[in-house]
Amino acid sequence: MIITDTHTHLYSEAFDEDRETSIQKAMDLGVERFFIPAIDSTYTDAMFELEASFPDNVFLMMGLHPTHVKENYKEELAHVEQLLSERKFYAVGEIGIDLYWDKSFLKLQQQAFVYQIRLAKKYGLPIVIHSRESFDEIFDVLEQEKDDKLFGIFHCFTGTLEQAHRAISFNMKLGIGGVATFKNGKIDQFLNQIDLKHIVLETDAPYLAPVPFRGRRNESSYILKVLDKLSEIYGVDQEAIAAITTENSKQVFGI
Ligand SMILES: [Zn+2]
Repeated sequence: MIITDTHTHLYSEAFDEDRETSIQKAMDLGVERFFIPAIDSTYTDAMFELEASFPDNVFLMMGLHPTHVKENYKEELAHVEQLLSERKFYAVGEIGIDLYWDKSFLKLQQQAFVYQIRLAKKYGLPIVIHSRESFDEIFDVLEQEKDDKLFGIFHCFTGTLEQAHRAISFNMKLGIGGVATFKNGKIDQFLNQIDLKHIVLETDAPYLAPVPFRGRRNESSYILKVLDKLSEIYGVDQEAIAAITTENSKQVFGI
């Protein structure tokens, strides 16, 4: 069984004490593919180090996270553009709009989102979308940018059934993680109405640990809990879910 964690921040400081052991633990359980979203330029070196330690298992994305779109966003976007021109990445992410903490950067977040979508199209890459309290704003941008080059993953999908269909209509897979195991997570109620071909697995480690680890540091090995939950929701065994979602991830990332 090969499991793919399509979204894990393994370079985060949260893993400074036990990064190698934590990754090895996940690999021992069959989690062999780790897709690593970028946040901003301060993490680039740590991402490259991670890749150098696990060159066969770690696949990097490049992008500017919406909550890090600040006054210096032009320099940050130049960094993203520069790196995309220099070497291989597997997606532009994570990018999008986040209105949970602060709405004052909405305009800049929209601009940075559009700019990075166009970079992804230029390099034939998928986008990995971060959306928080911002479905309408994200869909407005996707509607405007929709074409045959637009595809990717709606990371940490937490919307309604209708919003799920809408995301899929823009060629997005739904990234499903710990929230599916939460009592109040809601998506477990309708997920079985979404074909598995639209689903990929993720942890978003170190954030959003699944039950029974909720509230603790998340890690990629906990993706097994998400797998269990999906197996229960779909009435399909874990091996089949792992195989289908890994196949879906290959379709998106091209590896
Ligand atoms: Zn993330």
